[in-house]
Amino acid sequence: MLNIVPKPCSVTLSPGILRLGGRDFKGLVTRADDKTIFPQGYRLTISPDGVTAASSDDDGFFNALKTLEQIKFSSGSFLPSVTVEDHPRFPFRGFMIDCSRHFLPVDELKVMIDAASKFKFNFFHWHLTNDQGWRAEIPELPDLCKKASVRGSSHFGSVCDPSPHGGFYTVDEMKDIVKYCRERRIEVIPEIDMPGHAASLIAAFPELSCDGRPIGLKTTGGIFNDILCAGNDKTYKIVFQIIDSLCGVFDGEYFHIGGDEAPKKRWKSCPKCQSLKSALGLNDEEELHGAFANTVAEFLRQKGKKVISWNDSLNGENLDDSITVQFWMDKAKKSVKRANSGGKLIVSDFYHYYMDYPYGMTPLKKVYGYNPVLKGLDHVGETSVVGVEAPVWTEHIRSLDKMSYMCFPRFLAVAERGWTQESLCDYDDFKARSKKLLPMLDYRIRYAPEQDWDILTCSRVKETTSFFINAINEDNIKNFLDSR
Ligand SMILES: [Zn+2]
Repeated sequence: MLNIVPKPCSVTLSPGILRLGGRDFKGLVTRADDKTIFPQGYRLTISPDGVTAASSDDDGFFNALKTLEQIKFSSGSFLPSVTVEDHPRFPFRGFMIDCSRHFLPVDELKVMIDAASKFKFNFFHWHLTNDQGWRAEIPELPDLCKKASVRGSSHFGSVCDPSPHGGFYTVDEMKDIVKYCRERRIEVIPEIDMPGHAASLIAAFPELSCDGRPIGLKTTGGIFNDILCAGNDKTYKIVFQIIDSLCGVFDGEYFHIGGDEAPKKRWKSCPKCQSLKSALGLNDEEELHGAFANTVAEFLRQKGKKVISWNDSLNGENLDDSITVQFWMDKAKKSVKRANSGGKLIVSDFYHYYMDYPYGMTPLKKVYGYNPVLKGLDHVGETSVVGVEAPVWTEHIRSLDKMSYMCFPRFLAVAERGWTQESLCDYDDFKARSKKLLPMLDYRIRYAPEQDWDILTCSRVKETTSFFINAINEDNIKNFLDSR
């Protein structure tokens, strides 16, 4: 068996080898067009005479080259004669990096993107804003980066730093990332989190909250009551300006509008929110959340974008049908119901795909063992799952070293479950192939050593408990209780 991750649909070896000598293998590839091959799929043929990569689209050709790169890595200067026929189970295979809690410089972001692209991830969800920092330059609104990109200190339990932390990506840097990703057949999905997790936006524009009170950037993790006022016209004006600006940078088809963890305490006592709720004939604040998301989504739709929202936006059960829902936690029944009626779904199950939790809590085997099709999905529901995404949140991650340790090899498990047909998935086989391929990654990717992948149960309990004890501090508890 060849070492290829994700595992292809079929691999047929034949006699003979291709001698590369000192030649660059990419120069030996002949591209062929074959419209019978599935989107993103390919047929890679290596024979003593050369290499042919057939596909029906550019993505397929790129994926054939990724497979060839892996075969070359394991084979050295003699490639085996082989035919690999392959196409993905799901069209969407993404990874998300939170650059708000801790800022990741452009060159380090590129290291993560390049490593993910080797395993055929095709979407990079860029979490650019949250309560602890605004990271996207919006030239039309300079106050955002001026007032909301540097916080005074950081208190995330185990990560405590009394010194300021911050940074933002200029328009040119964001365009550079888009280009870097495009070269790797990856679409960048920007996320502006709203109406909750928007303290950085409110720090720059206090008039966008319900009470208009000035606030600073948050220095702890948690869920906060300071959310955008849904009944204030100015909120939409600024949000649309931000979207307008970012649509000039991000040319992909998707845009993420957040929508997670938005406590409605302020909305309940805000005359403007209550008046909009009445005017729209809505029953409660969760429906108002749905209406808020629908208004922003409609603006994006007019710009030709497809919109994604976290599954929390389903609470009011009035979310527009066209919005793709990203399932992460709770409300599985609502996500299932929506998918069964044709609503598109991305699966990012917290217990299996959240890369920021320790291996003790989410061992590699657990990630791999998760079939990303939620229980209760019928035939329509199953076809509504567009794919998988592995988020890495960064309250507890402030270096590329730590991030790459947490993500590799767990990214490979998500990549394989998103690509490979269910019947071909086998954990031991996956582990053996992964072990051989991890050394091909850039030296700055400090992947986890094998002994950490599936640690013993007693160590798991210890590691998980100590993670949560370290993650919790007085401020977190106060914020949590306050938001209920
Ligand atoms: Zn309000």
